[in-house]
Amino acid sequence: MKGIDRMIPPDRYAAARRRMVEEQIVPRGIRSPWVIDAMGRAPRHEFIPGATSWDAYGDHPLSIGFGQTISQPYMVAVMTEAMGLTGTENVLEIGTGSGYQTALLAEGAARVYTVERVAKLVDIARETLNRLGYGNIEYKAGDGTLGWPEHAPYNAIIVTAGGPRLPDALKDQLAEGGRLVMPVGGRDIQELLVYTRKGREGPIRRMGGCQFVKLIGVDGWRDV
Ligand code: SAH
Repeated sequence: MKGIDRMIPPDRYAAARRRMVEEQIVPRGIRSPWVIDAMGRAPRHEFIPGATSWDAYGDHPLSIGFGQTISQPYMVAVMTEAMGLTGTENVLEIGTGSGYQTALLAEGAARVYTVERVAKLVDIARETLNRLGYGNIEYKAGDGTLGWPEHAPYNAIIVTAGGPRLPDALKDQLAEGGRLVMPVGGRDIQELLVYTRKGREGPIRRMGGCQFVKLIGVDGWRDV
């Protein structure tokens, strides 16, 4: 076998990934060039072991164990774009899950801190992201409704699980002008909110209905 064939493994998902961007992301109004770019590059299938391209790049969320759901690609794009990243930010993510969203944040921000309550998921996500070469991410197993005060303030915070309200600790750990993107509402259905810190409080932009797994913690839902 020629050495070159072994050195560059063909990515058999490239066509599905391109279709995902062209059909699900761009026509629905995502404008941010870096988000479109990063989603065209990030190997989503690596975060879903054993995935077919229908699974990995399809227009739907997917549950992949431990009560975890990898969000629909379009929802990931909307939330990522709403964070308004320019590449210089200190970012906090609550709900690491598979680590797919984390990979996009690592491309768009300077530094990413990610918290996940299921320790086993932290291990799997860390392993995947290390293997793919992402070096600007720090991981923690714990209750993300309390944030990660040691590395605050954050220019943007994203919560990828739905809670009954915006957790106070997360609002407090935002920098002035920083944005908190989170699904808030009931246990089964929520609305995507973008809160911008201005002094002690700040305006909230409503981005429409969504469905996420529960944010479980002291300032989230108390039950599993
Ligand atoms: N962004 C993820 C989606 C994960 S689903 C992805 O792209 O794959 C939401 C995740 O939030 C689940 O893994 C769940 O375990 C986690 N979660 C729920 N409550 C949490 C909390 N209080 N702190 C941290 N993670 C939490």
